[in-house]
Amino acid sequence: MSIHEVIPLRAFADNYVWTIRDSTGAAVVDPGDARPVLEYLDAEKLKLVAILNTHHHADHVGGNTGLLGRWKVPVYGPYDERIREVTHRLKDGAQFTLPHFGIDFEVLEIPGHTRSHIAFHGGGMLFCGDTLFAAGCGRLFEGTPRQMHDSLFRLMRLPDATRVYCGHEYTLSNIRFAKAADPDNAALLELEVKAKQQRDRGLPTLPSTIGQEKATNPFVRVSEPAVIASASRYAGKALNDPVSVLAAIREWKNTF
Ligand code: ZN
Ligand code: FE
Repeated sequence: MSIHEVIPLRAFADNYVWTIRDSTGAAVVDPGDARPVLEYLDAEKLKLVAILNTHHHADHVGGNTGLLGRWKVPVYGPYDERIREVTHRLKDGAQFTLPHFGIDFEVLEIPGHTRSHIAFHGGGMLFCGDTLFAAGCGRLFEGTPRQMHDSLFRLMRLPDATRVYCGHEYTLSNIRFAKAADPDNAALLELEVKAKQQRDRGLPTLPSTIGQEKATNPFVRVSEPAVIASASRYAGKALNDPVSVLAAIREWKNTF
């Protein structure tokens, strides 16, 4: 495996195009917009070697064609006709080696935000699109609370040190909600201080880690008494299973 770095390229208001690079090549995850990628690769004199797509939303795949116009590279993505450019459609458990870098990736199907959403896990990294965010999770556009619950908990079984590269810079607004759903969580308050400092300096709050999410993310802390209590208060009835707790706080956050 080559020596590489992972660079966040900003797109739109708050998307990140995560870019794995070394001194000569780059692979991009979820290029919603080709322009910031082309600018970066040209400035750094890098050639594109691959595109990875986690799900079909335009803010994650909109730059595919613009990049493919310059470089004919493999596009790894889900079985979903809505992303026409995918050359390697990958099911749960599929493995592939990232060209140029030699990093072995495994694919996890994680439906919930969309029905065909996948994550890429390899080299100690997780690229999880809009399913898992720092201190939050994606909206349920095409999935059920049960699916989102199961997807999040599959990710939580990865090693705690796994670096979590999410699709958006949503951390501060997620923390604002998380403090309501999981009051008195000391780890969450610590994260807030750190994230505010990072944002004040114009730095990304990502990557997170699986360990950090277990400590701070209310959507995976659905068996914690404090989260159950606040979800039950929101629902107006006692909730006693994790999926109902997740459903309640997801709905609560939609209007928070
Ligand atoms: Zn999305
Ligand atoms: Fe998105």
